[in-house]
Amino acid sequence: MDLNALSIHELNELLKKKETTPSALTEAVFKRIDAVEEQIGAFITLNKDEAFRRAGEADKKRASGDGGPLCGIPLSIKDVLCTKGLRTTAGSKILEPFVPPYTATVVEKLEDAGAIIVGKATMDEFAMGSSNENCAYGVPRNPWQLDSICGGSSGGSAASVAADECIASLGSDTGGSIRQPASHCGIVGLKPTYGRVSRFGLLAYASSLDQVGPLTKDITDCALMLNVISGYDSKDSTSVNRDVPDYCDALVDGLNGMTIGIPKEYFGEGLDSEVEAAVRNGIEKLKEAGAQVREVSLPHTEYGVAAYYLIAPAEASSNLARYDGVKYGMRDMEAEFLQDMYNQTRSKGFGDEVKRRIIMGTYALSSGYYDAYYKKASQVRTLIVEDYKKAFAECDVLVSPVTPSPAWKIGEKCNDPLSMYLSDVLTIPANLAGIPGLSVPCGMSDEGLPIGLQIQASHFDEEKLLRVGFNLETRLDLAGSKPPLS
Ligand code: GLN
Repeated sequence: MDLNALSIHELNELLKKKETTPSALTEAVFKRIDAVEEQIGAFITLNKDEAFRRAGEADKKRASGDGGPLCGIPLSIKDVLCTKGLRTTAGSKILEPFVPPYTATVVEKLEDAGAIIVGKATMDEFAMGSSNENCAYGVPRNPWQLDSICGGSSGGSAASVAADECIASLGSDTGGSIRQPASHCGIVGLKPTYGRVSRFGLLAYASSLDQVGPLTKDITDCALMLNVISGYDSKDSTSVNRDVPDYCDALVDGLNGMTIGIPKEYFGEGLDSEVEAAVRNGIEKLKEAGAQVREVSLPHTEYGVAAYYLIAPAEASSNLARYDGVKYGMRDMEAEFLQDMYNQTRSKGFGDEVKRRIIMGTYALSSGYYDAYYKKASQVRTLIVEDYKKAFAECDVLVSPVTPSPAWKIGEKCNDPLSMYLSDVLTIPANLAGIPGLSVPCGMSDEGLPIGLQIQASHFDEEKLLRVGFNLETRLDLAGSKPPLS
């Protein structure tokens, strides 16, 4: 198999035995990008020269036997994470010329570990979307079927990993944007606990929901990435000061002593039958691994989407106020007066979905409506937290589908924002509660599109997620399957 098709841990075997080098690996990755990127469209900006320079440094480290598991590993980074000297657009025209003066903590940690940034991955504008069709720089295609969406908003991150244009990636998840594209592209995606990973340098969408996490080819790689990116950051007041375990220790065979809850509301109306069958088959495998399974109820699940679409736009309307043509990115130069400059910069710079969210959010926060909308949504959020608390008193993890259906065709839901919003019904509750969620491949549809299984756990229980995910992965043996790309 080509080097770029391997996982981080497989490459480490080769690198340790000196059977390959970071430069050779970077070469293989860019060769693959040259071959398939025109079909996929996973990147907004490539970082080739700097990548080879960094690969040269990693060569030396590896040659002298230094460097941890990420040393010399080529990664893509969602274009919502700031990278000093490397353009960061958040998928928006308003940030087209924006070159950050600093690097996000998560990216810095990866670079300190010797990882190589090959480019900035495409995404829905300001991470608003479920299909990656809201991007000012084009729509990426699902490597499994080029006329299908790769999911959103971290669509480019997922596609670049699935198409072997890099080894792993970082995305961000506000309502499902790591887990959902991971599921649609047949890879592993983890949204860590809110506060586990620093948000410093992540361009904010909805600050109380956003979390950065890895998209990888398998669970072991997910643990390796989480080991590096987790931990307290004094630059992020919401990051939590708590020890970081070695997440690889969680990758043990067998689930004896674990109880898995099956939330009945996640298997309701609107769930595609192939998705249900694949997930139920996954649950059987977890039973075979020794887990106890029981049904649980999360009665407020159905209100998650409604609460989310008040809270997230409300926070976004405030966070996006900073893009006014004065401080960052593009400025409309035709306006004569200051107020017109603000208006025109924002009118021309933001896309339709972003404008829709700003209007919804401003409305939800406006005086007279605040109690009816924002406050009510916050109360629903508390009920969802309570649901989870009760469920986790009875079981270790919850297992469900990630999305109600496999990937849909590009263009299919563009004129129907509501049906697009509803596709996040199974991922949004974890963000509202701040708990971690993992998406693991569990099957394929008849049409040949991947299906994911979601595992959720209580705050800071990422080890349980990884343990269950690892047991599923080893029993299904899907991790090595590749899209039929030439
Ligand atoms: N699809 C959801 C939204 O558009 C979630 C996006 C995300 O997680 N960034 O808000």
